[in-house]
Amino acid sequence: MMTIDYQMYIDGEWCEASDGKRFDSVNPATEEVWATFPEATAADVNRAVMAADRAFREGPWSRMSATERGQVLQRIAREIESAGEALAIAETTDTGKLLRETRWQTKNLVQIYEYYAGLADKVEGQIPSTGPNGPLSLIVREPLGVVAAIVPWNSQLHLAAFKIAPALAAGNTIVVKPSEEASAAVTAFAGVMAKAGLPAGVFNVVTGAADPCGQTLISHPRVRRVSFTGGVETARKIIPATAANIAMMSLELGGKSPVVVYDDADLDSVVNGVTSAIFAASGQSCAAGSRLLLQDAVYDEVMARLVARAKEIVVGDPMGEDVHMGPLATRRQRDRIERLLAESQAAGARVAVGGGRAGRTQGWYFEPTIVECDGQDYPVVRNELFGPVLSVLRFSTEDQAITLARDSEFAFAGGVFTRDFAKAYRTARAIPAGRFWVNTYRVTSYMVPFGGFASSGYGREGGIHAIQDYTQTKGIFIDVSGAAVADPFVMR
Ligand code: NAD
Repeated sequence: MMTIDYQMYIDGEWCEASDGKRFDSVNPATEEVWATFPEATAADVNRAVMAADRAFREGPWSRMSATERGQVLQRIAREIESAGEALAIAETTDTGKLLRETRWQTKNLVQIYEYYAGLADKVEGQIPSTGPNGPLSLIVREPLGVVAAIVPWNSQLHLAAFKIAPALAAGNTIVVKPSEEASAAVTAFAGVMAKAGLPAGVFNVVTGAADPCGQTLISHPRVRRVSFTGGVETARKIIPATAANIAMMSLELGGKSPVVVYDDADLDSVVNGVTSAIFAASGQSCAAGSRLLLQDAVYDEVMARLVARAKEIVVGDPMGEDVHMGPLATRRQRDRIERLLAESQAAGARVAVGGGRAGRTQGWYFEPTIVECDGQDYPVVRNELFGPVLSVLRFSTEDQAITLARDSEFAFAGGVFTRDFAKAYRTARAIPAGRFWVNTYRVTSYMVPFGGFASSGYGREGGIHAIQDYTQTKGIFIDVSGAAVADPFVMR
């Protein structure tokens, strides 16, 4: 089969790895190699960071006004409109994410870049009230320098945009490393940046493994900010690596988000909401609602309706218009899910629907799966599976629901279904999470920050304040007294 041989984008040019090595990417729907990428060496990563550093310190980027930077981001948005279909196809082929969804996400991408384009010249300083005699004190906000952005394979263009757009709008330069499991969409995105006329070195893409590519990038002495999205175990390796450069950091990690259904809920909304929470994107979402907590009185009815709904889900070719769920992105993902599910069943968990490979011998497909558990201590309840597997637990009282919901190392998102506004509010406030839905799930806006509590990470992406996270303050004191500087050893 013919493959597409992608190149990296460093210092405004397409290039190979310095030692010429490449790695393969497999289409999860066919299990065939469809693309190859340069395997960046430490020297390649160093070149990318030094190009970004030079572009930050000396290049036209640092001399542009914030308004001009905003105009460049607007041009990026226009280029995404032209390249949208090609980007969506690249991401779907590489990850198995539904084409319908990657198409929607590329449209949303345009809005994200437009939003941060509009914010570029609204980063303002302050003048504290130090009085008419001064000193005149200014608090100005300055960009940080080179940003290292590490992105996972799921929703990669979308997640990368929440790093690239605010970082560039604030005047930084950036080196992006996509996942070695699926690097096509981010690499292809460099074509958008080239066409938008970004000065050389402002935006770079390096492709390759966690080590040396990822590790060299995050520990590089010229990197001032690491923006990481990925799993918690990876984060545990990222954190010590930044001891080398004392880079500022944000960590967007995994989740095991609870959805609480009280017995007064609108059950039609529950069925659609929970189905979307766990089966959209084949459950490969940091915000997936993967722990369902059902109140006694509605347990049987909700279970029956969810099982029936799960059986209607069409699993198949992610390019198909009528398909609801594509394959998992990697074989490793599917194998891990099967292992954790088998361990849970051996411990007493009951599979109510699914659990198999959707009758497929090719492609990493996995059925929509619902597992009933009589406690929290099952592997499917404790671990982020990052797949279409919902664990279900029963509760009697509001206190029990909240205790169960809180009992997780993760705290990324959560949801509640009830007609009682006060109970919804109490539940939303009691469950630790960076994002919470009431009587819905998965609804989102780039205007609202997201990010986790606890082991789901720290830092927020999206919204107005994200741009501040790519700046730092500088306090400037200016003498306005008109008097000479006094003798420092004479106290007045
Ligand atoms: P991962 O942690 O395996 O990889 C993420 C990225 O880190 C990849 O680019 C990888 O190459 C890189 N990496 C791995 N080891 C590294 C190292 N030692 N040094 C530097 N870079 C390294 O995650 P994944 O499997 O690609 O993605 C799934 C995970 O991402 C899930 O846990 C999911 O919840 C999480 N996620 C979080 C969010 C969020 O916003 N919080 C969004 C999407 C996904």
